[in-house]
Amino acid sequence: MTRPRVYLTRKLPEKPMEHLRKIFEVEMWKEMCPPPRKVLIEKIREADGLISLLTDKLDGELLHTTSTLKIIAQYAVGVDNIDLRVATDRGIYVTNTPNVLTETTADFTFALIMSIARRVVEADRYIREGKWKIGWHPTMLMGRDIHGSTLGIVGLGRIGSAVARRAKGFNMKILYFSKRRKPELEKELGVVYKDLDDLLMESDFITLHVPLTNETHHLIGERELGLMKETAFLINTSRGSVVDEKALYKALKNGDIAGAALDVWEHEPTPNDNPLLNLINVVASPHIASSSLETRTKMAEKVAENLEFFFKGKTPPDLVNKEVIKIKKPSKLI
Ligand code: NAP
Repeated sequence: MTRPRVYLTRKLPEKPMEHLRKIFEVEMWKEMCPPPRKVLIEKIREADGLISLLTDKLDGELLHTTSTLKIIAQYAVGVDNIDLRVATDRGIYVTNTPNVLTETTADFTFALIMSIARRVVEADRYIREGKWKIGWHPTMLMGRDIHGSTLGIVGLGRIGSAVARRAKGFNMKILYFSKRRKPELEKELGVVYKDLDDLLMESDFITLHVPLTNETHHLIGERELGLMKETAFLINTSRGSVVDEKALYKALKNGDIAGAALDVWEHEPTPNDNPLLNLINVVASPHIASSSLETRTKMAEKVAENLEFFFKGKTPPDLVNKEVIKIKKPSKLI
């Protein structure tokens, strides 16, 4: 039996790569940057499986160019770069990597909360730029308390709940807004449901954990930022386009809110001249919330597991477009 051909759009950690090579005919894009569209089209014309990253734009037009592709195993939990409707119509399975990155992403969200509230990045720059001239001073680089403050979680899913668990340890009051109310989590975590407007008005820290969809695009815009307290901070580790960056810049510049910590951006990589980067009350990171050695390795193992299940003729554990099952059965090729 010929082995399934899998195209990989970037190098993954070595151990899971070895495993993939044992089972599949693996071809890989070797550069650090994403493969050009032309290359992607050429490769998926022959591949049975594709391992994609969130930087690979897999839109309807591109998916219509392949008749061999059977599964896209995304190396991320978010799948907003993939046209799921077209994939489903064409019988292409789409899988992601949930759970394994939840705790790592929640850790980083908390790192951002702490960095923006306690001015950690600013303090580091302050010393390095030789500004620390007068020793200890009562009002030097004063921040805001995290413990005892109110955290508003938008999207109480896996990562949102993991952030809530951390916030409990900080004795924070926790509000949440999500598509559906979660009575069990309300009981377990002591979180209180609010509609989005009330959450925005009452929270000291607002952290975003919704997927990017048509509904959540610019969920936080001028009106929503206007509802936040002048002393409040916005933290975004979800997807950049959940926030209207132009409106955010205006709100920060005018002092309508106190600060923002952003791991994700409307356009990635965000250009150097993004005006948000000129603001001292912005902490910036380049989409690294899930980037730990342990988690990035587990994500690759998940990708391999989903592919193996599929090509053994079984439903992959992390199937995103579940309706596809009615259209096509998994392919038994190994
Ligand atoms: P998840 O478990 O699916 O949680 C998402 C939550 O958002 C769900 O609770 C869902 O509500 C809620 N939601 C969806 N649409 C909504 C809407 N229109 N209004 C209000 N709430 C809505 O996903 P997750 O694993 O926590 O991941 C969340 C997102 O984080 C991913 O989609 C990804 O984009 C992002 N992420 C980023 C990084 C990074 O490196 N920065 C890493 C990992 C993930 P219900 O439960 O009520 O349906």
